[in-house]
Amino acid sequence: MTIRYISTRGSAPVLSFEDVVLAGLATDGGLYIPEHVQEFSMAEIDAMQSMNYAELAFTVISRFIDTSIKPDVLQGIIAESYKSFRHAAVAPLKQIDGHSFVLELFHGPTLAFKDFAMQFLGRLIDHILDKKSQKAVVIGATSGDTGSAAIAACQGRKNMDIYILHPKGRVSEVQRKQMTSVLDNNVHNIAIDGTFDDCQDIVKALFADAEFRKKHNLTAVNSINWARIVAQIVYYFYSALALGAPAKNVSFAVPTGNFGDIYAGYMARRLGLGIDQLIIATNSNDILARCLATGTYSMEGVKPTLSPSMDIQISSNFERLLFDLYDFDGKAINDMMTKLRTDKKITLSTLAWNRFKAEFSACAVTDEETKRTIATTFNTTGELLDPHTAVGLAAGQRVRKKTGAPLIVLGTAHPAKFPDAVKAASGVAPELPPHLKDLMSRKERCEDMANDVSKVREFINAKSVA
Ligand SMILES: *Cc1c(COP(=O)(O)O)cnc(C)c1O
Repeated sequence: MTIRYISTRGSAPVLSFEDVVLAGLATDGGLYIPEHVQEFSMAEIDAMQSMNYAELAFTVISRFIDTSIKPDVLQGIIAESYKSFRHAAVAPLKQIDGHSFVLELFHGPTLAFKDFAMQFLGRLIDHILDKKSQKAVVIGATSGDTGSAAIAACQGRKNMDIYILHPKGRVSEVQRKQMTSVLDNNVHNIAIDGTFDDCQDIVKALFADAEFRKKHNLTAVNSINWARIVAQIVYYFYSALALGAPAKNVSFAVPTGNFGDIYAGYMARRLGLGIDQLIIATNSNDILARCLATGTYSMEGVKPTLSPSMDIQISSNFERLLFDLYDFDGKAINDMMTKLRTDKKITLSTLAWNRFKAEFSACAVTDEETKRTIATTFNTTGELLDPHTAVGLAAGQRVRKKTGAPLIVLGTAHPAKFPDAVKAASGVAPELPPHLKDLMSRKERCEDMANDVSKVREFINAKSVA
């Protein structure tokens, strides 16, 4: 069966899975989604009970890929992707009270859930490039977490060079070390004398430079890449199966920034998984929670919080949900996104808003409540939560229906990635796992650069294979 991908704004070409992975954003500015999603039957979900993580990942991911990638090749890519995880269960569940569980998604190489998608995406892109006899340059800007996951995914891949820009002196020590201590020849860290927004502006300018973009076959691995969503659907199935699916339903609370992770949960439901509540957990950057409560999606500037990976102004993947809520009306989405840019807000139609409320619950959590949740969880269980996971737990406990299904909170980062916040809240300094104990003393390689797009362009021109 061929699976066709269409843009949420209705006027970009229809593409295959492989081309969607390389394209990232559609040419009309939209995001790609599959034209059709085929549900799993109860019997098919039942049969997943006996699968290990890699087998389950193959079964779920295959739903979205046509025959262009051979099954044995895909199996190989998936097996390699999850081999580097430091827990035999890959994504273990830890019970923390009578009805709540934390799904630990931080046993990958960089200790955050982004490894689940990035480890897969890096290998997948390398394979697709191989088939096309192409090379590519990956460029990205990071405020900390995404950069290290992307570097870990691309290091040593023969068809790719990766350049990650971070704001000099504005990422944590652990985050910087995780990026700059990767010494492979194809990995290039650039510390920009500026802010995260400056870094992002440079990346955008390079993508907008058509000649440069073509010359280096520029590729993005950001959160709108469809292959990242697909890889994230797997652990919704995996954890629900562990708690008795398909016979029993579960609920999820998901710490949310760009709406990628929770959109994967929504896709799991569309694939037939029995999910009671899908709870959007935000910090004080609460555009999604406000939208669910009022029907208006309105931008308010970014507030720094204890959970920095969720400090966003708008949630880029929300556009994918809107496309569904508006019955695949690309023109309507295009008009809304234009309006959002000029007016800084849009109001959903009554039908779309009602549909949104039928699929999701939402809750915003303050820094105070985040700290309290870390402290209480430590005192009652001995477990340290990172601030993002704590936002998820606080929101889940507030919003879950008391008589409902068990609550699974997505544990998106290891506490040792955010040691200051965790120690301030609990009194205990979280320790890095054994394989990263020497991280802070590892040798680093990083290029300092002025906040100047032409300097970055020259640097890439001088270094790249593509
Ligand atoms: C990226 C990130 C999130 C938010 O995920 P989205 O897919 O952007 O919603 C939450 N927690 C951590 C630790 C992250 O790195």
